Amino acid sequence: MRTLLLDATLIDGTGAPPVGGAWLAIEDGRIAEVHAGAAPAGRFDATLDLAGRACTPGLIDMHVHLCWDGSPDPAEVNAREGRDLTLVRMVGHARQTLERGVTTVRDLGCVDDLTLVLARAIRAGAVPGPRLVATGRSIVMTGGHDPFWGVFCDGPWGCAAGVRGQAYLGATVIKVAATGGVYGRPEGEEVGTSELSLEELTAACREAHRLGLRVASHAVGREGIDNSVQAGCDTIEHGIFASDDALRRLAAGGRFLTPTLFIYRHIAEGSAPAYAARKAVACAEQHPRTLARARSLGVGVTAGSDSGSPGNPHPALFAELRELVRRGGLTPLEALTAATATNARALGLEAQIGTLVPGRQADLLVVEGDPAADVTALERPWAVMQAGRWVYRTATGTVPRERTAR
Ligand SMILES: [Zn+2]
Repeated sequence: MRTLLLDATLIDGTGAPPVGGAWLAIEDGRIAEVHAGAAPAGRFDATLDLAGRACTPGLIDMHVHLCWDGSPDPAEVNAREGRDLTLVRMVGHARQTLERGVTTVRDLGCVDDLTLVLARAIRAGAVPGPRLVATGRSIVMTGGHDPFWGVFCDGPWGCAAGVRGQAYLGATVIKVAATGGVYGRPEGEEVGTSELSLEELTAACREAHRLGLRVASHAVGREGIDNSVQAGCDTIEHGIFASDDALRRLAAGGRFLTPTLFIYRHIAEGSAPAYAARKAVACAEQHPRTLARARSLGVGVTAGSDSGSPGNPHPALFAELRELVRRGGLTPLEALTAATATNARALGLEAQIGTLVPGRQADLLVVEGDPAADVTALERPWAVMQAGRWVYRTATGTVPRERTAR
């Protein structure tokens, strides 16, 4: 199957400015050729004229929770509805996410390992959804952050065993909790409290890396961030009170910070129960300062939304992209690059997704308007392609009409 897309305003994800009048050839689910200028001769099974619309790589969200519904207290919803209903609801969230152009997500915590089941179902083609990099349950100390989806692990050997258990269940990333959090439970945790120790985090990282898995660390307070960086964690989630030393070490190691800038402000402004809002205020105040510092020190900044968390319904990546521009100081093109090429690199999937160059999987988002000038243009999808197949359906139930060769 060969498909030709004509007259695209190409934003290839590398950070290069848009190129008008471009065409892309898609073959067997992959990008075969990309050029500016006159369309190629030769035979195509289908041709679609994008009429100058912007074409970007499918977007990637580095931090989601598909088991959460984005209501004010999603953990309480999980506890009430039970796992069967949760799983069915997750199938819907996956579809909504994909149809808005978010073609890959990394899920960093899920009750009962349900994301590992969902990931298998998506891979098998049983249900539509984004490519799902998922941890299932997370590695936390006894009674640690997000206990409802934690595997309680204590001591280095306990943490290594926890990682092995998740790998056995099919996890494709490991999540550890190095500090307490803002939302989760009304008492017993603070963001400044370190949880898994340096020795425990080191053991988890060593075991994960040995098994070919990257490690994402929930780390908000300074000491827990330092521990995570020293232990070898690949991405720091939130990272709000990071020291300069930690940021320098992240940059030097080519590792990444996922700020999740939007959700802390949103919670501080009241999207979650009051106990969480109270803790989020100081976080929201510090957050843009740390992000600016991280960027000036050369840390790779990824785009992750914490989608599904309180007041943050799927797909929340668009709110995060707005926030990265509005309070994070990124240009719209930089925010888009974070959500494509940078995220792909942070996942170790840069040879497969994140840029529109030959050989990559044909995951595309076609939008009205110019996302390089206005990041909200990404919120107006005209078409979404995943692995060479159109997956977005308009309100009338149609997919983009192609001229089919006879
Ligand atoms: Zn999260």
